[in-house]
Parts: sequence; structure tokens; C-alpha cells
Amino acid sequence: MIEINTLATGSTGNCYWVSDGSTSLLLECGISFKAIQKALNFRTSDIEGVLVTHEHKDHCKAVQEVADRGLDIYMSPGTKEALGIQHHRIRAVENKKQFQLGTWTILPFDTEHDTAEPFGFLLASQSGGKLLFLTDTYYCRYKFKGITHLMIECNYSYKILSENVNSGRTPGFLKKRVMKSHFSLENVLEFLKANDLSKVQEIHLLHLSDSNSNEQEFKQAVQAATGKLVYVP
Ligand SMILES: [Zn+2]
Ligand SMILES: [Zn+2]
Repeated sequence: MIEINTLATGSTGNCYWVSDGSTSLLLECGISFKAIQKALNFRTSDIEGVLVTHEHKDHCKAVQEVADRGLDIYMSPGTKEALGIQHHRIRAVENKKQFQLGTWTILPFDTEHDTAEPFGFLLASQSGGKLLFLTDTYYCRYKFKGITHLMIECNYSYKILSENVNSGRTPGFLKKRVMKSHFSLENVLEFLKANDLSKVQEIHLLHLSDSNSNEQEFKQAVQAATGKLVYVP
């Protein structure tokens, strides 16, 4: 039984706690360690490790603190280098080479973002659940089978972004950047259509933009397209 707890999501900070009942992990640490402790009622000692997707601050702000607290942090060699922090708790893991953290088998894979070597993670639990964590990528070149839990960025919709650019609310230059670095509702729907969702129990939409998204609309669109339980934390 996979449990997902969103401690923070969005451009001001991302951090998610996940557990399969035996091993708990953090996905990202883009808020202070104090905030993480508070959100988890100070139950951080049983966290087996922290996975970080890329070096943008909203995903890794607390890396130093978290490492100093004795938690192991896993990321791509490129992200590690871009961060520039030397610490024995910070470990580089290779693209498409799976590794084990407690009862989880974790497969990192490359994503499409404007950073050194961004990763997504597929987490398979010994108890049978399979969690896909996919954020800060405008597209995903891979297809996945047997996912039970999906955590996926749904940053903006092309429609809302275009309206905001036309009205002057969002500067035009940002449009290009957003479109080449973040997942749109339209691309998320394409991704969902291309993947086998027969085992999916929950879909969590992450990292919604403050100005270029609409929570209710996104939730309804994904629900209508999949018939699944959709959460927008
Ligand atoms: Zn981000
Ligand atoms: Zn980013």
C-alpha cells in the first residue's frame, strides 16, 4: 500500500514523502529541513533516503542541511556537479541503473528540462506497488507498464499561458522557456493516453504554476480522460 504525502509543491518548493508501509523516502527537498520536520511531526528518523530530480532550488534547497542530518541523497552525476556541494551523503546514481533503498527498487531515467542532467524516478515496491515520479520535464520519451501511483507535473495549460501572454500578464520570453521545460496539461494528457493505466489507482498532479494553471480545470480534465482518482495537492 503506497502512501503519498505532499509537504510542498510548486515553484516555491517541492517535497513529497512516500512510503510503501515498510520504507519511507523523500522525493525532493526544496523546502527547509525545519519545514520538513514540522510537516512530518518530527518523524524524519525513519526516512531511508532522499531522491532529487535536478539542481533548481525549488527541488533541492535543503540538500546541505538534509545531508548534515545524516540522510543519504541520490541524484544524477550532472545534478551533483551542478550543485557543487561535496558531502559523503550526496550520492550520484546513473541513468537507467536501478538501485535499492529498503523495500524500494528505484530506476532513474532522463527527463527534458533546462538543467544539467535531470531525472525522473520509477519506484517499485516489494509489496507490488509501482510509483512513477515525473516532474519538471516538458515531455517524456519513455512509456511505463504496471504503474499503480502516478505523481506527475501539470504546470500550465497552453491555453491559459497563451491568454496570459496575449494580455501581457506573462512576458513573451517566458512562454518559450516554460514550453521547453515544464509539463503542460495538454502533454500530460498525451502522456496518459500513451501509457497503460490499467493498474493506476491514484494520479497526483504536481507543481502547478501560480499564473498559468487552473486547479479545478486540470483535475477535471485528467479525471475525465482517465476515470482515475486525481489529487491536486
Ligand atoms: Zn521546479
Ligand atoms: Zn526545475
